[in-house]
Amino acid sequence: MVAQVIDGKAFAAKVRAQVADQVAKLKEENGITPGLAVVLVGEDPASQVYVRSKGKMTVEVGMNSYEHKLDVDTSEADLLALIDKLNNDPAVHGILVQLPLPKHLDEDLVINSIDPAKDVDGFHISNVGLLGTGQKSMVPCTPLGCLMMLREHHGSLSGMDAVVIGRSNIVGKPMAQLLLGDSCTVTIAHSRTKDLPDVVRRADIVVAAVGRPEMVPGEWIKEGATVIDVGINRIDAPEKGTNEDGSVKTRLVGDVHYASASTRAGAITPVPGGVGPMTIACLLANTLTACSRANDLPEPEGLTA
Ligand code: NAD
Repeated sequence: MVAQVIDGKAFAAKVRAQVADQVAKLKEENGITPGLAVVLVGEDPASQVYVRSKGKMTVEVGMNSYEHKLDVDTSEADLLALIDKLNNDPAVHGILVQLPLPKHLDEDLVINSIDPAKDVDGFHISNVGLLGTGQKSMVPCTPLGCLMMLREHHGSLSGMDAVVIGRSNIVGKPMAQLLLGDSCTVTIAHSRTKDLPDVVRRADIVVAAVGRPEMVPGEWIKEGATVIDVGINRIDAPEKGTNEDGSVKTRLVGDVHYASASTRAGAITPVPGGVGPMTIACLLANTLTACSRANDLPEPEGLTA
């Protein structure tokens, strides 16, 4: 069997186009432009890249983007004061504080100071509780993107056996809640799971969110299963040669060994070009959802859990 490739890049472009259409409609019919505020504290290079591309894509779908770049030594009081201002700004429908924060700032305190209705990352404790109890919430972007791809591929997920490898608060746990919400039988595996190969072999759906390069070999995958690879790992790629400074070139791989898994899976997401592009698309979808809810308008179809 050769797995069908689930093209996250193409699907994300479709989601962004859907968001852009709805944004244009909101502007035309209601005179409302959704706004996303992104707060970056410090100068972490990876975070700067993420914030830049979030801002660019926000503008591309017709939304307003508000970037707040704060010094690395910004006090907690000043950061909380900014969040309070954004919470009370009617032009801002979504607030995202780029993580990780510098060590002197309490991440939980900061995230929980965001108005849950504007918490487009879905990390606020209220949203975690609402998702866990099957109520309307803001859903974390990466698991939402995985769910959308699974629904697009399968239609209904009802009754399927799903295994989520990884139990982090940002991916593993909310992913498991979403799959449960779609009536899968869900197993959460983690670093202490006794027989991971055996657990994975039973799954119709495997979501790998560990952060270990190619740790899931193809032989663990049940014939025909759908594999969603969340992992993003950079490894040395000596076959690509060396950089100008003499260092070995690198490449990105997922948590799943793609070559062997794609001979057994029915469908699989590649890395790069799978889950990654869906994450920002879902951030935009969440901002649109937050804006619609704030204005008592119907929620955008197909863009929420
Ligand atoms: P994390 O480090 O917070 O959690 C990793 C989880 O893996 C833990 O729950 C741990 O129990 C589990 N684990 C560790 N070793 C294991 C093992 N040997 N067997 C089974 N489980 C094991 O990581 P995270 O934030 O959830 O991210 C996971 C991966 O997903 C990373 O590679 C990260 O870069 C990637 N990621 C991608 C996106 C995206 O947009 N595509 C978004 C978020 C995270």
